[in-house]
Amino acid sequence: MSSLTLDKVYKYYGPQLCVLKDINIDVASGEFLVLLGPSGCGKSTLLHAIAGLHQISSGTIALGGNVLNDVPCQNRDIAMVFQSYALYPSMTVAENISFPLEMRSVPRAKRQKAVSDVAALLQIGHLLDRKPSQLSGGQRQRVAIGRALVREPSLFLFDEPLSNLDALLRVEMRTELKKLHQRMGRTTVYVTHDQIEAMTLASRIAILDKGIVQQLGTPNEVYNRPANLFVANFIGSPR
Ligand code: ADP
Ligand code: MG
Repeated sequence: MSSLTLDKVYKYYGPQLCVLKDINIDVASGEFLVLLGPSGCGKSTLLHAIAGLHQISSGTIALGGNVLNDVPCQNRDIAMVFQSYALYPSMTVAENISFPLEMRSVPRAKRQKAVSDVAALLQIGHLLDRKPSQLSGGQRQRVAIGRALVREPSLFLFDEPLSNLDALLRVEMRTELKKLHQRMGRTTVYVTHDQIEAMTLASRIAILDKGIVQQLGTPNEVYNRPANLFVANFIGSPR
């Protein structure tokens, strides 16, 4: 069981600036939830709070029924993929993917097997000896995804992972991410400001504006029955 529960989550930056207001979201085990909203609405803040990169001001975050609030990020069994690939430039692709396992003292033979499995899945087996500087943007993002996959976490977090890629590659990677999720079935929270990306990937979408969830529903529901004018305008619902 790796359902994620966000219960009455608030986040303040200083006494005046409330960037997350009463966030209540249940993400079922294996679900692909997309957090969609305009720039500055609080998407990254929420994702970072789930990952444990910063504390929330109040509320509860739980994974598989275990409260995470006071669990340090390295003990959360969560892997995150960022918009910037954040690969280690001096390491090869294989070393980059293997690194999280090395940190956990996984034996060498097991690491090699895990790296080659993930590389096969992401079709980067031929790139394992290269350095990140010798890769295209799409290839780098695949390596970053590989480094998250290799840990086999209970929860995947993605923060606009495709927004640095050109339009064609974005569509291709979107399709691949969808296939990957269908194959692995891991609980995923995926942040984007791209409506089409949200509609194609999500089992449900949480639409955020000014730190408030405006609507939580299936792509079909938010598109055909927008809860308010903001959602209708943002999604581009028919009038
Ligand atoms: P998004 O990812 O949706 O673009 P963010 O979560 O990055 O939005 O930011 C939400 C709001 O919080 C913005 O108004 C941003 O300026 C503010 N913010 C983000 N990080 C900090 C910080 N460390 N200190 C103060 N304000 C911040
Ligand atoms: Mg952001």
